[in-house]
Amino acid sequence: MEFKSIISHCKEYGFIYQSSEIYDGLAAVYDYGPYGVELKNNIKQYWWKSMVQMHENIVGIDAAIFMHPKTWKASGHVDAFNDPLVDNKDSKKRYRADQLVEGYCEKIENKIKKDVVKAQKRFGDSFDEGQFRSTNQRILDRQAEIDRVMGLLGTHMKNGDMAGLKQLIEDLEIACPESGSRNWTDVRQFNLMFNTQLGNIAGEEGKLYLRPETAQGIFVNFLNVQKTTRQKIPFGIAQIGKAFRNEIVARQFIFRMREFEQMEMQFFVKPGTEMEWYKHWKATRLQWHKNLGVPESKLRYHDHDNLAHYANAAVDIEYEFPFGFRELEGIHSRTDFDLTSHQELSGKKLQYFDVEENKNYVPYVVETSIGCDRMFLAQVSLALQEETVPDANGKESTRTVMKLNPAVAPIKCAVLPLLKNKEELTNAAADVTKELKKSMNVQYDEKDTIGRRYRRQDAVGTPYCVTVDFETLENHTVTLRDRDSLSQERVAIADLPKIVGGKVGMENIL
Ligand code: ATP
Repeated sequence: MEFKSIISHCKEYGFIYQSSEIYDGLAAVYDYGPYGVELKNNIKQYWWKSMVQMHENIVGIDAAIFMHPKTWKASGHVDAFNDPLVDNKDSKKRYRADQLVEGYCEKIENKIKKDVVKAQKRFGDSFDEGQFRSTNQRILDRQAEIDRVMGLLGTHMKNGDMAGLKQLIEDLEIACPESGSRNWTDVRQFNLMFNTQLGNIAGEEGKLYLRPETAQGIFVNFLNVQKTTRQKIPFGIAQIGKAFRNEIVARQFIFRMREFEQMEMQFFVKPGTEMEWYKHWKATRLQWHKNLGVPESKLRYHDHDNLAHYANAAVDIEYEFPFGFRELEGIHSRTDFDLTSHQELSGKKLQYFDVEENKNYVPYVVETSIGCDRMFLAQVSLALQEETVPDANGKESTRTVMKLNPAVAPIKCAVLPLLKNKEELTNAAADVTKELKKSMNVQYDEKDTIGRRYRRQDAVGTPYCVTVDFETLENHTVTLRDRDSLSQERVAIADLPKIVGGKVGMENIL
């Protein structure tokens, strides 16, 4: 489905609203509606269960958003958590200099793709894309240009060379997409952390940051957790929580937000074993996505060429969003960078005593970090479909259906009395609802025709609908409709919790 339609569906059906919409919204900040919050909670629960509760050697914490300001000095965020900012003097629009250059390359890439499609049509079945790409001179030239420009971009970014970036933008004659003007300011570093001030201390001393990642709350608590849980290395600490980044350009709906939620796990290992664990978590995390039903073709690894200052290996799990493959999750081998920096700046030892080795050391860390909101967007864009199905009279009709995995669907089962003005039916349906609510999230709905009610449940991803009709009053059975196959079976009310519960439970994907 088109990205625009996904966004409007999310709003129309109460998944996501723009923040403070009545005041024309706040850019890149969003609120989750009644269905959205259920889906998001279920995604978090799936992560928490598989990460924390299914592992003997991973425990959870919930650290505060505010941390001592020195935390961010030690982590490198005060000095290095920057994006290159450039303003267009005519349109007054702000851009990330690296994204302008990437956009330039994306345009060339699109031209290559067009040529490939054209050739595909021309050559038909005998077309070999690999061969075409490696022999067609125009494509080779274009690819060489992309490689050259991306190479320069990588070097300038790595060296923090802002003048080099400005020169690159000028050399490539990149114009402001808004005004078409090439009248740029100098490129300068822009720190992405939001800050605020403690009430009782003035000046730099009282400067607080809203955490830009949850990981640091784990690092500073490393010894607290290790000692109080008596975990032995290797072990992990997991956390779900809000993070804040003052993104320069925030586009693409909830893909890039200024306030978002992360699900992070730091796995502490013996130095020298980190590559083994890096491989382990790389594979485990991909499998987590597949277990939820994300097809392999929609996922891919992207190894980092330019490693962050703290990493000795890093990979993204990319997902094919409606606007292309983008980072959904990162797996980073962070070495002992964070613990060592905190140790130095705080003057407190952050070491582990290894009984087997009979020595102290600062553990190495392998991190898995996924954005909850990006996972939400990935799930909705995968699940939302339009399809042609037979209606109640057997005629073809289109329906919008969200084929979410039942384990994460906001509502597991809807209970629908066939008619709303027959008290026997509504009472019986209310009783079924009350019973089912004990074990799952259920919705009672009596408004409109039964066909319309089915469609409404399809649109929010409800995997099962139970219809209470006149036969129910005679033999205590109901019809159970399956969202995907549209099949209907007659089942006893007494069996519903077991039958539906068995189909929608989280245990099916763990
Ligand atoms: P990007 O390159 O897209 O800015 P990143 O490499 O800065 O992402 P990390 O610092 O590795 O991201 O953060 C871990 C995860 O947090 C990302 O994989 C992503 O899912 C999520 N995330 C990061 N920034 C945002 C944001 N602004 N909005 C929503 N999710 C985000």
